[in-house]
Amino acid sequence: MPNKDYYETLGVSKSASQDDIKSAYRKLAKLYHPDLHPNDPDCAQKFKEINEAYEVLGDSNKRSNYDQFGSANGPGDFGGFGSSGGGFGQRFNTGSFSGFEDIFDMFSGFAGGGNSRRSEIQVAGEDIEVNINLSFKEAVFGCEKTIKVTKLEKCNSCSGTGAKGGKEYETCPDCHGSGQARYVQNTIFGQMVNVGPCKKCNATGKIIKTKCPDCNGKGHTKQQQEIKIKIPAGIDNNQVITMRGKGNASVKNGPNGDLLINVSVENHEILVRDGYNLLLDLPIPFTTAYLGGKVKIPTTDGFYELTIPALTQPNTVFKLRNKGIKYLQKEVYGDLIVTVRVEMPKDISKYEKELVKKLDDSISLNSYKKHKTYQDKLSKLED
Ligand SMILES: [Zn+2]
Ligand SMILES: [Zn+2]
Repeated sequence: MPNKDYYETLGVSKSASQDDIKSAYRKLAKLYHPDLHPNDPDCAQKFKEINEAYEVLGDSNKRSNYDQFGSANGPGDFGGFGSSGGGFGQRFNTGSFSGFEDIFDMFSGFAGGGNSRRSEIQVAGEDIEVNINLSFKEAVFGCEKTIKVTKLEKCNSCSGTGAKGGKEYETCPDCHGSGQARYVQNTIFGQMVNVGPCKKCNATGKIIKTKCPDCNGKGHTKQQQEIKIKIPAGIDNNQVITMRGKGNASVKNGPNGDLLINVSVENHEILVRDGYNLLLDLPIPFTTAYLGGKVKIPTTDGFYELTIPALTQPNTVFKLRNKGIKYLQKEVYGDLIVTVRVEMPKDISKYEKELVKKLDDSISLNSYKKHKTYQDKLSKLED
């Protein structure tokens, strides 16, 4: 169970479109923005909650994780940075919509106020997307996989500063370390003040005196890493597991990106998955349908003898309760739904023909309820 209802926080329904969510967020963010309510801790708290909710619901991957697993982190608890310390806008998505820029656009009008909260520009590291193939069984029962990912990691030698020993730098004199500078432009309307990335320090807030030799001043290095992924039982094809903070390191003071794992599941040789139910199209000889018998069928946990009662009609459906797939994060199982397809032989010998002829003679028309009704209607049409 999610401990917070993000939908409630944003005042939208669970079926709201991404556009609805974005517009609800913008409305609320405008209402509660701290620049409008200085020294109001309630508003600040509310603003924080709105941002937290939007950070999840505004991202369709995270939203889908939240809907399915009750957490944006996906099924496993891989809290890379479950609660990073930053205040406002602690994380900026690298996707098409950037929370930072958006809020910034909206409030550039109030920008005259104290902007101490944005003392540093933070940009989250990029997400990494990987594909993983699972066998049918691995998806049904869950498993652990180790994958190799090449990703940006913060350079250890310089603690990500890019400066030798992590010390050989000074605060940028133009932006005083904020990474943002004000540029005054003279226009026909008068002076316009624009706030933008500081050009002197490339928005890093730092001027490096001596570059770190290990990362050549970049503050990060590319490394291959083995990452263990816990695949939860019940995962299905095309689902995405998000491991927060396991993506690329940020190149600008922000948190790591996420690792997005696209799941592909191999088909079972016989069973077909339909959500948490399994479907089985079961061909049986017409004699089994007629006389009854036992037929071996596969289930997720071995084989099972299905009893076919005598006189089973074609396309009869048998539902085997709880023989389907375990739900994600729940001790609930789907069903195995067996549809009987009665099969006639492809050939008939002289001997078999005689046997069936005798059988046919012995069965009265009244035993075939539907056929009998049909014949009765037909004879009325002929009258
Ligand atoms: Zn600067
Ligand atoms: Zn370094």
